[in-house]
Amino acid sequence: MFTSPLNWVEINRKALEHNLAVFKKMTANQSVICACVKANAYGHGLIETGKIIGKDRRVWLGVNAVFEAESLRKAGIKNPIYILGYTPLSQLENAARLNCRLVVYNYETIEKLSKIAVKLHKKVPVHIKIETGNNRQGLLPSEAVKLAEKISASSLVLEGAATHFANIEDTTDHTYAFFQLKNFMDACEKIEDATGAKIPIKHCANTAATILFPETHLNMVRVGIGLYGMWPSKETYVSALREGNRGQSPAATVPFSLRPVLSWKTRISQIKEIPEGSYIGYGCTYKTTAKTRLAILPVGYYDGYDRGLSNTAYVLIKGRRAQIRGRVCMNITMVDVTDIPAAAIEDEVVLIGRQDKENISIEQMADRCNTINYEIPTRINERVPRIVI
Ligand SMILES: *Cc1c(COP(=O)(O)O)cnc(C)c1O
Repeated sequence: MFTSPLNWVEINRKALEHNLAVFKKMTANQSVICACVKANAYGHGLIETGKIIGKDRRVWLGVNAVFEAESLRKAGIKNPIYILGYTPLSQLENAARLNCRLVVYNYETIEKLSKIAVKLHKKVPVHIKIETGNNRQGLLPSEAVKLAEKISASSLVLEGAATHFANIEDTTDHTYAFFQLKNFMDACEKIEDATGAKIPIKHCANTAATILFPETHLNMVRVGIGLYGMWPSKETYVSALREGNRGQSPAATVPFSLRPVLSWKTRISQIKEIPEGSYIGYGCTYKTTAKTRLAILPVGYYDGYDRGLSNTAYVLIKGRRAQIRGRVCMNITMVDVTDIPAAAIEDEVVLIGRQDKENISIEQMADRCNTINYEIPTRINERVPRIVI
């Protein structure tokens, strides 16, 4: 299928399964797991990841948009799909036909979707999004109650209520998260009073909340980053150490481990020696201080290898670090292999992941790019093959 790609992503099935099991155990199998596979499964490959996670039919898949749901269904994945993002009015019928559940926060959506449900003779489950302090998607509690009443009076099924934390992974002070949780629980109660029916699935927890606060698990947790073996942030890790024995000095360990799922690799396309005093790459930003053996790699910022890594990051070749020299180009990157004499054309090169005793983590790369770990894998071009190992 993918014959000799210039660079490729490897997905470790066992690691993904391990992480999923960690979150099942953490929620004591009491809450539904909604595995967030939006953004091409955080760069891990929507279908590749969806098939592995979807083996357990109880696990929901969280996507951002209808096109992702369509891809999953075409791949034969039958798990419940929850659309987290906006579904344009013109896409509502598609969403219903694909048996998706939708997050809702507009009257226009309810009116149109309700008619579609009648037309298709389908129960279309919707989840109302409650604004509790993130000021992003959703309705303030008083408005949410009105929309919930409207849903109850329509042919739709009010299956769930959701909110999203604004400040949980960026801090070790979780006062604001608990303020939001209280707003959410109060709003759910008001909705239940107004409609006279229990909301079956209340959910608010992302990875950080799921790890740190069991009281946020409710009926479902929406886990993304953790499934892929990453912590949401250093602050979350520190908080987890602390929450391990609440109120006391930090516990020495977190009682579970997350295993990175993704590696990114390429092969050397050329090796050459250049003299002392040579400039390397666009802008002549690097000048050799000695005779240098240079390896050329067929990967660049088009593939998602950030240009911010120019002259700063390194890759792994023969288990050793090879420093990037000059600027990362669109399709090409140059690295120094002067001290790796065994390096040869078509040798495997690790951009992210482990090689022998060395490891390049997504977090390390994110630091170098002045961003968060979430952004690094989601930026790996979708065209780069994802290979499950
Ligand atoms: C992406 C997303 C999540 C998952 O967040 P993580 O921090 O990756 O676990 C949860 N909820 C919503 C609404 C999301 O969009």
